[in-house]
Amino acid sequence: MPTIFSKIVSGEIPADIVHQDDLITAFRDVSPAAPTHILIVPNQEITGVDDLDDGQAEVAGRMFLVARDLARKEGIAEGGYRLIINSGPHGGQEVMHLHMHLIGGRPLGPMLSKA
Ligand code: AMP
Repeated sequence: MPTIFSKIVSGEIPADIVHQDDLITAFRDVSPAAPTHILIVPNQEITGVDDLDDGQAEVAGRMFLVARDLARKEGIAEGGYRLIINSGPHGGQEVMHLHMHLIGGRPLGPMLSKA
């Protein structure tokens, strides 16, 4: 079964796509946590960080470079932003297709509540 993100990558379901290249697609999160909230995903279906192979360093690295470029494009590079990759149940991963959240546009507060 293709993931919902694979269907966005292939164009089967609509999304607000802000970047697409041979390895990566990036689109706006449907339920944004901040003024900028973009998801950066590999075009290839990789379940999560734990499923990355050593041979996939290029796609993993490209995710960061796309995040850097999109942050500049969104005008949030100077103020700062947060990159989040949730992994597995304790990490709160809901969609089982590797993705990086690029979040910014306002002060984001502490990373985790310590309660
Ligand atoms: P995670 O909890 O890290 O797996 O994050 C999944 C994210 O995907 C959430 O922030 C959702 O709001 C977002 N999301 C789910 N479905 C869609 C969709 N069709 N288009 C854009 N974002 C989505």
